[in-house]
Amino acid sequence: MKYALNTQLKDKLNILLYHGVTDKPNEGIINCQGKHINEDDFLFQMEFIKKRCSPLSIDQWVEIKKNNKRVPEYPTIISFDDGFKNNITIAAPILESLKLPSVFYITTGVIDTKKMFWVDVIEQCLHFCEKESIELYLDKKTCFDLTSNKNKSIALISIKKFCKKTKSDQKDEIINDLIHQTDVIPRKDLHDNYKTLSWNELRQMNDNQLFTIGGHTVSHNILSSVNYDNLNYQISECIDKLSNELKSKIQHFSYPEGQKNHFNKEVILRLKKHGIICCPTAINGYNDFNENLFQLKRVMVGFEKIDFPHNKL
Ligand SMILES: [Zn+2]
Repeated sequence: MKYALNTQLKDKLNILLYHGVTDKPNEGIINCQGKHINEDDFLFQMEFIKKRCSPLSIDQWVEIKKNNKRVPEYPTIISFDDGFKNNITIAAPILESLKLPSVFYITTGVIDTKKMFWVDVIEQCLHFCEKESIELYLDKKTCFDLTSNKNKSIALISIKKFCKKTKSDQKDEIINDLIHQTDVIPRKDLHDNYKTLSWNELRQMNDNQLFTIGGHTVSHNILSSVNYDNLNYQISECIDKLSNELKSKIQHFSYPEGQKNHFNKEVILRLKKHGIICCPTAINGYNDFNENLFQLKRVMVGFEKIDFPHNKL
């Protein structure tokens, strides 16, 4: 793969959004959407950034904006959402060897617990399900054919899509029903991609000057789809837990899912009240100097959607 820089993007901030980096081949429908990118691709991308762009920490960007400083050419921030274990086992050594700053947004409820991300529960249940079909009640009764990996991945995409647009209580009900119907008990140790960081590992990362730790809620709920009490809990509990465990001030956060309808003014107000100074979205794109720090766009790498970074040759 070869990449070229697009000179029109010279002054635009590019925030790359990663979830995981893997050294394992995909199997069945595990990682079928490319959430965890291949280690060799990641290394290539990081070397490209090191050579051709101006890697910045998220705090450096806040500083540049605050003091109206000159923007370096091709300013680039590396960010990771969620808190997967491969962030420290595979990504961090590459980032350290190239001295690249990065920010990791952590969903605290999965750290040192058996809890999994709900999207991963759906993937795992469908991957390991031995039944030929299941029937779930989405907006209506829907039958999913699970006789091939292709059909399983179609089911995965459509169940995830529905769960992302529905209220969080209904999403929980659907997932419980899915667990029941597929007869699969979700477990993190069934595949490396499902494993998450521990507090000890997060402390190690936090001790490294290159790395910034931020919040990403307690249970990865979409902040615009939860009630007021839960919104407060998802923000304050996440920030308090991180600052207590890491003995650090937490000033960064990212919105779960992060599309336009997944956050709102109330969410931003709550975050600011809890000392957050910057919270990027997952809306695709590059940022002008003047872009609001609570509406920064990112370029998602993986998820078979977007090429890295700028233009592919
Ligand atoms: Zn996330």
